[in-house]
Parts: sequence; structure tokens; C-alpha cells
Amino acid sequence: MTTTQARVLRTEIPGPNSRELQRRRDATVAAGVASVLPVYITEASGGVLQDVDGNSLIDLGSGIAVTNVGNAAPEVVEPVRRQVAEFTHTCFMVTPYENYLQVCEELAALTPGDHEKRSALFNSGAEAVENAVKIARRATGRPAVVAFDHAYHGRTNLTMALTAKSVPYKHGFGPFAPEIYRVPMSYPARDGRPGEQVAREAVERIEKQLGADQVAAVLIEPIQGEGGFIEPAPGFLPAIAQWCRDNGVLFVADEIQTGFCRTGAWFACDHENVVPDLITTAKGIAGGLPLAAVTGRADLMDAMPPSSLGGTYGGNPIACAGALGAIRAMREQDLAAAARAIGDLALPRLRALAEDTDAILDVRGRGAMIGIEFVKPGTTEPDPETTARIAKACHAQGVVILTCGTYGNVIRLLPPLVIDHALLSEGLTVLEEAIREHAR
Ligand SMILES: *Cc1c(COP(=O)(O)O)cnc(C)c1O
Repeated sequence: MTTTQARVLRTEIPGPNSRELQRRRDATVAAGVASVLPVYITEASGGVLQDVDGNSLIDLGSGIAVTNVGNAAPEVVEPVRRQVAEFTHTCFMVTPYENYLQVCEELAALTPGDHEKRSALFNSGAEAVENAVKIARRATGRPAVVAFDHAYHGRTNLTMALTAKSVPYKHGFGPFAPEIYRVPMSYPARDGRPGEQVAREAVERIEKQLGADQVAAVLIEPIQGEGGFIEPAPGFLPAIAQWCRDNGVLFVADEIQTGFCRTGAWFACDHENVVPDLITTAKGIAGGLPLAAVTGRADLMDAMPPSSLGGTYGGNPIACAGALGAIRAMREQDLAAAARAIGDLALPRLRALAEDTDAILDVRGRGAMIGIEFVKPGTTEPDPETTARIAKACHAQGVVILTCGTYGNVIRLLPPLVIDHALLSEGLTVLEEAIREHAR
């Protein structure tokens, strides 16, 4: 099953069959679960999604940075097919199986640092973050966890507390978990300050508010995802990591969105040679199957008593088969280089376009994780309305585009790393036209 790698529009978007399904959905699916583009998908491959009306859309979102190896990648499909026919589940905590071990071996080899590591597998990013916090608190015997402005770590109770943005993620859903503290994030397009300087302010805030000896962990996305694709100024991450080392605080990198070749390296921490004590991964890890992990220093991970970590489905064998296939594809096809090539193609075009309008504050990104921040022309005031109009115009033209940002004013590009360059280029042309039309 391979969908032709081309954009084909047979109806308006969404088409009549999608609209009919949307009516059924409204009567049965909880309204709180929303969809960016209610086009119902029947099959997908590479960088194309095909819908129930026979339209083929260009995918510049990868299901939120998940299908890095392409949708329904053969390297994922074949081992998953084999695994599902062999056995579907035993529960690793009851009777284990080898591919769980192989995923942990890959994580030990691929994540930053050559120290001794251990991993535990889970189902979702939020669950991995919850467990990283559990591990950090128990290993250090300290209560506090520090998170950053604009952070996103999930939608469960603890991860809501760690997430910065109120509407829609937190508002009305409290009370939230205690002992979470928030400090400033380096945001070059808005603060224009050197990374070390912002890091100093952040650690001063920690020391004043609670004292380093109370802090179990500093949790950070090395490039923030939902918060606006914010890439901290050089020096920020290393300075925070150094302060953590000096104070017995664990540096926890949430690489759930940035991991697995997305930014042009296996992990975003690699760009500044930052070695986290613990790292959380999910999204791109398994080519679309639900899997997540906490990987960390063996001394910390092994300090957890037996049966204190786990879950019924964590490290399900089908998901592990998918992960091994996805990792093989990333390695054999050098998808980190593919991500860099995507950045090399897209960034100059978008930067050239930004020259022609006062409505773009910043075009930023690494590899295939690219953000465009929109403002009211000539100001720094966020413009979420224009951003939404641009995304909508792309959707109508059959290009799946996502937005993000604390202020909802960032278009983010997360194409599958295997996307055909002609297809990517066509998607960018649609985006450029939408920007020219709506962001004068
Ligand atoms: C998506 C995301 C999460 C949450 O992952 P889920 O699988 O949706 O629970 C956590 N952290 C970051 C950085 C993310 O991008």
C-alpha cells in the first residue's frame, strides 16, 4: 500500500464524506478531543495522507513529529506485521520478551553520553515525563521540580502542572500537583539576550525561591515544541546543565518532540554536547506506534525498587517491533542528514519571504523543526488570528500545517524526514502564497 506522493484535490477540504463523518463524531466523540483539520484518513505513506473523499494531502506535521520515518514506512510495517502474528502481549512485568531489551539497548547507544544507562518503557510522552519526575524525586530525596516559561510536557495532572500555558491545557482543571516552580526561558526573538545571561537569571530565581538543595530536577525541552518552537540562545542549555551538576540537581531533557533525528541530530542535546541525567522520548521513537521511554544514568534508574516502575502496556511488543524498525530506517537512511537537508531547503525560502513582510518576527529552527512567528506588522505583538488564517488557507489547499506557541502565533513545520523534496517544495509554495495573501 503506497499512496502516490502527490497532492490531489478532488473535492473541497474537508470533502462531503469527511463532513458526514464529522457529524457522526460530534454525536459520539467527546468535544474536548479536537482535530486541527477534520479530514478523515483512509491511508497514508511517506509524506502524503489520503482521505475518504479521494483527496491526497501533503503532510507537513507528521502527526505531531511522530512519523519521522514516513507514514506506514515499510521498515516499520513489516516487523510489526510479523510481531502481531507471533504474539501481541504478555506484559513485560509478567513474562518478558527480547525486543523490549533491544529497544533499551538502542536507547543506551543513541542518547547523549557514553555513561552506563538503563531505560524503562511506557506508552505516552506524558507518562514518560511523570516517571522521570518520580525517578528524580526518589533518587535525590528532594521534592521540587523546575520547569520553564512556554514549556509543554503533557495533559495528565502532573504534566499539566509542568506545562506553562493555561488555555486550553490547564484552565479549570486544577488543583495541580505541588512543588513545581517556573523560571524564565531563553527566547532570542523576544528577549534578544545571551543564553548565559538568561540562564543566570533562571538559576537565581531557583536559588531565591526555594534553594538548590530542594530541587530534584530541572526539566527542559532543548527546543520547545508546543510553546512555539523556541530555540534557546547558544550557551543557555550548557549553563543550566552545569548549574545542575554543581548542585546535585538532575538535568532532565524532554526530547519527546525534538528526538529521533528531527533536528538534524539523533537528539537536540547533541547540538551543544549537553548530556542529560535523564531523557524522555516518545513521538518519533516508533514510527507511529505508541511507545515512550525514560533513559538515564544507571545509578539513578537502578535506585528504584522492584515494581515501582512500569504499567500493563509499557513496552508492548508490537510497539517495540515498530521502534526497532523505525530506528533501523533512521540509521540506514541517515534521516538526521535528511532533516538537515529539509532545513536547508525550507529555511532560506522562508527567510527570504520574511524580508518582504513586517508580519513575521522570526523564522527559526533546526533541521526539520521549523517555526515562523507572526506579529501585528511592525510590532512584536503576537498575531494569532493571521496565523490561524494562514494555516486554514493551507488546509484548504491540501497542505497539513500545524500552529503552536504560547500566543498561538507560530506556524510550525514538521514534515516526515523522508518527504520527497518536490512535494515539500510544493507544500512550501502553498504556504508562501498563503502568507503573502494574509500577512501583508
Ligand atoms: C507531545 C509532548 C509531550 C506529551 O506526549 P504525549 O505522548 O502526547 O503524552 C511531552 N513533552 C513534549 C516536549 C511533547 O512535545
